[in-house]
Amino acid sequence: MQLFNMEEGRRANEQNYTIMCIDDESVNLKVLASIFKDHYNVVACKNAKQGFHHALKVKPDIILLDVLMPEESGFELMEKFKQHPVLADIPVIFITGLQDVEDEEKGLLLGACDYIHKPFTYGIVRARVNTHLEIIRQRNLLQKFALFDSLTELPNRRKWQQDSVDSWFSAQQEHSPMVFGIIDVDHFKKYNDHYGHQSGDVVLRKIANTIKRKLYEFNGAIFRCGGEEFYFYFPVEDACAASIVLATCLQSITDLAIPHQAVGANCLVSVSIGAVQIIPNENIALEQVMKQADERLYIVKNSTRNAVSLLELNQDNQQIPLDIS
Ligand SMILES: [Mg+2]
Repeated sequence: MQLFNMEEGRRANEQNYTIMCIDDESVNLKVLASIFKDHYNVVACKNAKQGFHHALKVKPDIILLDVLMPEESGFELMEKFKQHPVLADIPVIFITGLQDVEDEEKGLLLGACDYIHKPFTYGIVRARVNTHLEIIRQRNLLQKFALFDSLTELPNRRKWQQDSVDSWFSAQQEHSPMVFGIIDVDHFKKYNDHYGHQSGDVVLRKIANTIKRKLYEFNGAIFRCGGEEFYFYFPVEDACAASIVLATCLQSITDLAIPHQAVGANCLVSVSIGAVQIIPNENIALEQVMKQADERLYIVKNSTRNAVSLLELNQDNQQIPLDIS
């Protein structure tokens, strides 16, 4: 998997980095573009206004910024970047003819990550930009590591907290029905006790992969949010379609035919699912929906297990229970 191979990730991403150069002198823009165009995307801007506009549009990975420009200086533009939530974290390197130590100090205090004096040499500009891009690469990789579970390679709870909220709000805007829910592996502690934790890990990976494939078919997503607990969501037309998707997920696990003799002689590993179908709206929070999904899961866990409990909420968030097994 590319995510866990740093060298492959570095090479794959090299061409994707975008460097924005903002300088009022065309010759400087041409020189900077010639240094980087073979390895990175280069966006050139001739003044601060254009620079701000394009930065918002392309969200560059790093900005090389001249200080002395007519109308608006690089220092003024830097202050604007820092005040904008989308642009505040983009690293900026000042490239300037100003030689005073005070100017350099001012640039760094404004939040620039580096300061290069004109006339610059190709090698120094290239080396410094590459150093900062390497830092960005490592930061991005760390963020990815922080958002994925290393055992199952599924996105983790932190990623759930980001993505589920995004999906909730986009469905709310489009008035699209969604299903949010929890999948829990049945008798998993007994499995670990009987077969050992290594075998338990293999089972978790198989279950994660199987349900991920099923949910991806329906444009859904799944996250590992606890030991043997997975959160998920998917868009859906109606409760009948939701029931079919959930039943398919349930069946896909028993189809794996993994023996679970700690439960009984002919028993197989299974999962239980609690879920809520809802058109996301501002009168209820996603946390409340997940709490109701958890209550549905609890009902299944206290009865047959290896089953689904789906709760359908109407436009007024009133509950119309519909159970399938
Ligand atoms: Mg200038």
